[in-house]
Amino acid sequence: MERKTVKLQGYNIDSFNLNEALEYITEKRGTIVTINPEMISYGKKNSEFAAFVNNADLVIPDGIGVEIGLKILGHNIRRIAGIEFAKELVKKFSETSRPIAFIGAKPQIAEMAADNLRKEYNTLNACYIQNGYFKDDERVLEELKLSGAELVLIALGSPKQEFFIQRAKEMLPKSIFIGIGGSFDVWSGTVKRAPEIYQKLGLEWLYRTVKEPKRFKRIFPTLPLFVINVIIEKIFGDK
Ligand code: UDP
Repeated sequence: MERKTVKLQGYNIDSFNLNEALEYITEKRGTIVTINPEMISYGKKNSEFAAFVNNADLVIPDGIGVEIGLKILGHNIRRIAGIEFAKELVKKFSETSRPIAFIGAKPQIAEMAADNLRKEYNTLNACYIQNGYFKDDERVLEELKLSGAELVLIALGSPKQEFFIQRAKEMLPKSIFIGIGGSFDVWSGTVKRAPEIYQKLGLEWLYRTVKEPKRFKRIFPTLPLFVINVIIEKIFGDK
């Protein structure tokens, strides 16, 4: 299966639908980035981060911001929520009990997330669970390596999770890595995802911002600036 990517702000974004993306990455293995406007904006300041995204094996458009950006450039590509994509991976890997590592979130949250997922996929094999507030990276990397995880879910928030994946993938070069932000909080039942109507309308960010007002400064001015930059890209091309 070949990648079909389009350019957005200097990044290659995959145009696969969910099933194609799932098929592609389970065959290819490697790193998955679920990209959003905040990450695109961060990459402009941090070239190591930008390089990580550009070297990823799959870059899926997570969130309405990226979908709108792509639409401005004339690409009709639907967003794939990172949390949903990760869940599909968990489902697929659990069918054959392939080992999955859960790294991230506050103590007990990853355990609760794995337990809840196991209620849906009873052959889920959680080979390694570690909260996201560790100091000793080397210990976690070593334990992860020994666990032999084939799917590694990293929920440390961005860009921490991407920098961690960059090191972790050296430990397990044949595994799949995905950074999934606050997904363990949702799977554990401690945080609720926005009601479906918000998700359908692409307003999940609005719901999360109202629930957690400190997110406001993460979205503004990043989101409007991102849209302006994409309009500039459309008119003048990419740099
Ligand atoms: N987190 C963590 N270690 C840290 C900082 C954050 O494990 O040092 C976790 C945090 O508990 C939360 C997730 O990372 O579960 C970040 O969630 P957020 O919703 O902010 O993710 P984003 O919006 O960045 O995808």
